Amino acid sequence: TGAPTETGTPAQAGPPPGAERPALRFGERSLTYAELAAAAGAVADRVRAARRVAVWAAPAPETAVGVVGALLAGVPAVPLNPKSGAKELGHILSDSAPDLVLTAPGAKLPPALRGTARVDVDVRAAGAVPDDRAGDGDPALIVYTSGTTGPPKGAVLPRRAVAATLDALADAWRWTGDDVLVHGLPLFHVHGLVLGVLGPLRRGGSVRHLGKFTTEGVTRELNAGATMLFGVPTMYHRIAEALPADPELAKALRRARLLVSGSAALPVHDHERIAAATGRRVIERYGMTETLMNTSVRVDGKARPGTVGVPLPGVGLRLVAEDGAPITACDGETVGEIQVRGPNLFTGYLNRPDATAAAFTADGWFRTGDVAVRDPDGCVRIVGRKATDLIKSGGYRIGAGEIENALLEHPGVREAAVTGEPDPDLGERIVAWIVPADPQAPPGLDELAGHVARRLAPHKRPRVVRHLDALPRNDMGKVVKRALADG
Ligand code: ATP
Ligand code: MG
Repeated sequence: TGAPTETGTPAQAGPPPGAERPALRFGERSLTYAELAAAAGAVADRVRAARRVAVWAAPAPETAVGVVGALLAGVPAVPLNPKSGAKELGHILSDSAPDLVLTAPGAKLPPALRGTARVDVDVRAAGAVPDDRAGDGDPALIVYTSGTTGPPKGAVLPRRAVAATLDALADAWRWTGDDVLVHGLPLFHVHGLVLGVLGPLRRGGSVRHLGKFTTEGVTRELNAGATMLFGVPTMYHRIAEALPADPELAKALRRARLLVSGSAALPVHDHERIAAATGRRVIERYGMTETLMNTSVRVDGKARPGTVGVPLPGVGLRLVAEDGAPITACDGETVGEIQVRGPNLFTGYLNRPDATAAAFTADGWFRTGDVAVRDPDGCVRIVGRKATDLIKSGGYRIGAGEIENALLEHPGVREAAVTGEPDPDLGERIVAWIVPADPQAPPGLDELAGHVARRLAPHKRPRVVRHLDALPRNDMGKVVKRALADG
């Protein structure tokens, strides 16, 4: 394809795939590897002199071509969420100050982008691939975090991090050139962009983007030969809900080689419903913008609901107690913060030396802010985020996730999120935010407290139940707990 092949090049490595093989398909529009290389080369020619480029990351081939073109030119790319509100977009643009924005011809850009030079990506153009002088440590992408816990921060991802994560996943998941991914995720986070687009391309596979996720689209693409599905928990939840009435979906899922969930915890209840209807286990992986991928269940490993597998090859992972001491016990009980070290790490937050310094320990480990336990088999079980999901109540440290999982097993509960709020007696009391299955008959406190106490332990029962029409979620379907707490 003419793409550079040294190890640090995120776009492609290994044997060059056949030029006429499919690389990308978005709806009716598709590109072969030869077409992708030519169009990305044309983008590279246009952006070579830029310091940094933004990519209007709509679910379209221009997004993939723009990002691959910037990678070929060695110019860092900042994917933008087309659904960002004016405030978020303004923040990201003033923070990242791109020279150019790459976009599809005809795309309507918001006023915040009027001052940025626009380059329309032509997916049928051909250009020369420039010399790539970028090194492994140079930035490949600047990806903003999801903003679940505060304003999004721009994580600067070096080329080696992208390459390391994709090679580690290729190993854990046995990616080959025959793999075809069904993709229904947005392209402005690492899940949809790095794993979902650059991932299959790195091994010569191909990507079929659904535009918008639907269970019908998943059925159609798996029946047409796709081998993998990557999704967030809200997608698997919809699949779990649809399965009882959709035997075609169950049949199609049985054909898939790999069903992977990530970006947030997949409730045990959904794992179990999917396994019961299809005989297939969803593999969970755990990662974040700053570290790309940390852990996964391997294809040949045991996928236990509620666990995210083991550290990927090359990833150093440790659990650390509040006093800073590493936890060595694999007892499934001792909770510690997950800290990570390895080639998959970002180099820092853009323009945030304070936040960057605070994120690393003196000996160079990244503090993820997530807390977890390790099971006797070495599998990591995520408890949640240190700040919002670890509730200190009555002298206990209680994870929100296991209570959420228990609540979701109640037939009257459609969605559940658990938080802690100040309590004069307990320190914090457990609050269950519930979307009832039947709004006319929402389950009450006594009912849900008894349900949880019987399944887990009495001190893990909610003390307050609040009913909502829907949980506040961001674009990745993650529950924004600070929005719950703000009322
Ligand atoms: P911000 O950092 O801006 O608050 P964010 O942390 O949601 O937002 P991301 O980097 O997109 O931004 O998400 C990473 C986080 O998602 C992880 O730190 C972890 O809390 C959560 N996460 C990812 N995968 C899983 C998983 N399989 N199980 C549980 N949590 C997960
Ligand atoms: Mg985060």
